[in-house]
Amino acid sequence: MAEARAKSVPVVLLGGGHAHVEVVRRLGELGLGAQITLVSPSRHAPYSGMLPGHISGEYSFDDFHIDLAALCARSGMTFVETTATVIDPEQRVVWLASGESLGYGLLSIDIGSTPSLPEGTSSGISVKPIASFADRLARLEALAGEGGLSTLAVVGQGVAGVEVAFALKRRWEGRGISIVLVGRAAEPIPERSRWARRLLEREMHKAGIAHLPAFDVEAFRDGVLVARDGQTLAVDEVVWTTSSGAPAFLSATGLQLDEKGFICVDDTLRSLSHPDVFAAGDVASLPDPRPKAGVFAVRQGPVLAGNIHRSLSQDRLRPYFPQSSWLVLISLSDGRAIADKWGLAIAGRWVDRWKHRIDSRFMRRYR
Ligand SMILES: Cc1cc2nc3c(=O)[nH]c(=O)nc-3n(C[C@H](O)[C@H](O)[C@H](O)COP(=O)(O)OP(=O)(O)OC[C@H]3O[C@@H](n4cnc5c(N)ncnc54)[C@H](O)[C@@H]3O)c2cc1C
Repeated sequence: MAEARAKSVPVVLLGGGHAHVEVVRRLGELGLGAQITLVSPSRHAPYSGMLPGHISGEYSFDDFHIDLAALCARSGMTFVETTATVIDPEQRVVWLASGESLGYGLLSIDIGSTPSLPEGTSSGISVKPIASFADRLARLEALAGEGGLSTLAVVGQGVAGVEVAFALKRRWEGRGISIVLVGRAAEPIPERSRWARRLLEREMHKAGIAHLPAFDVEAFRDGVLVARDGQTLAVDEVVWTTSSGAPAFLSATGLQLDEKGFICVDDTLRSLSHPDVFAAGDVASLPDPRPKAGVFAVRQGPVLAGNIHRSLSQDRLRPYFPQSSWLVLISLSDGRAIADKWGLAIAGRWVDRWKHRIDSRFMRRYR
């Protein structure tokens, strides 16, 4: 009876994020594919851990993208290539940019986060959404090729910002393009250990990447970055890697959101306001919050898949326990990387090989 119900409830998965690819794989293996639809604006889902390697020229587009259409086909699921624009959790309907709608019995949302640029700023190049960054990288490359790029600012001192700075430096080696990392904190990667920061500062110095700390960017106008305290920096272009915001359309859904607009979930990843809605990855606001990082989305995948299955079978859901300490691997784009965990950090070639093995293993699972 429970098994029959499990196979009759329509399930909609919004977004082909790091958690949902595992949900597709696992629920497909359980033979639940026929009732599941995955919606994503692009059939190619990027794996962010390998983006710096793509920028530096190490990985091709295919190396760091999962083909969602092929993954769904293998799992017996329907793939719809479009964006969700409206969720009506009372009517249990999702409206799509294509004009169609999808009714659901169970909805799971893994649509990531959006770039948060200074208010009113539309110039510069945002790393997010990563899915379309390859196009923007081509624009940046064209600018560099035309000689229109002598100084580039990477705004954002998190791991994404420093990796992008190293990767661009590597990409344009010997072409006389200066790169400056800009942010409001006093040091790069303020959220990581002191040891990792010291190592990173040394590597930035060696690589010739400048750092402009305590620069809280307010705007980028006419080739000038302006800080809140009036400081200015003239640059030819800006790459934004600043911290993540919530997808705006969620505010009209009636789902319970936190103060930043992310979906509040309990420890089973189920919406606090709507028990037939799950959320995972950056878009979810956990009871015990963690930074917005792919490592959490990846770990949530198996728990989310299990809980969707249990929810369909009306079984008791299992909790997700976020790691209290997690490994961060920072690519230096020269064949080396920095590993940081438990307040200890180390740099080396073997760290980069280790990162490559972890990333490749993740990608192989969905090929
Ligand atoms: C340069 C860079 C490097 C990074 N490196 C690391 C790293 O090494 N380790 C780490 O842990 N984190 C890293 N991160 C952070 C990481 O990218 C995110 O935390 C991670 O991608 C979040 O995964 P997710 O599953 O929440 O969403 P995402 O992977 O962002 O996927 C969301 C998906 O949903 C789709 N989508 C969006 N809106 C809609 C909609 N309305 N309808 C349907 N589909 C939609 C998107 O197209 C996308 O495919 C990095 C980030 C950047 C920018």
